Amino acid sequence: MSGHESAVAHLRSEGYRMTPQRLSVLDIVAGRPGHIGADEVWNLAKEQHPYVDLATIYRTLQLLKRLGVVTEVVIGNKLHFELANHHDRHNHMVCSECDSVQTLSPAYLAEFSQRLQQEFGFTPDLDNITIGGLCSICQPQG
Ligand SMILES: [Zn+2]
Ligand SMILES: [Zn+2]
Repeated sequence: MSGHESAVAHLRSEGYRMTPQRLSVLDIVAGRPGHIGADEVWNLAKEQHPYVDLATIYRTLQLLKRLGVVTEVVIGNKLHFELANHHDRHNHMVCSECDSVQTLSPAYLAEFSQRLQQEFGFTPDLDNITIGGLCSICQPQG
């Protein structure tokens, strides 16, 4: 079962109806390998449902997020979404200059997490952490 199909099954098991609009929002996010902005989802959804409004797209994305089907990533001042893939957990590095996104293996944060536990007895929740900064291209030369 693909992540997409299990997401649909999950929604149904929670008692949500898979309306054509919800299904196409899910299709659009699932069909994109990286991250997709809410406004891009809207533009693509309008091809199938010309009268769908952005508020409906947002509501659907928030619903899918609450159910753990999609993950939300803030890039610049825009919200992006991607299908939550529990086999491919990753964190994001977002460039504040060009808004590019790079993915980061959670292994990089595992050591940090361990040290917080050892030194402070604190268990951090790093699953959804996004690291801001400058990508290699946007760094000042010299
Ligand atoms: Zn991602
Ligand atoms: Zn950059």
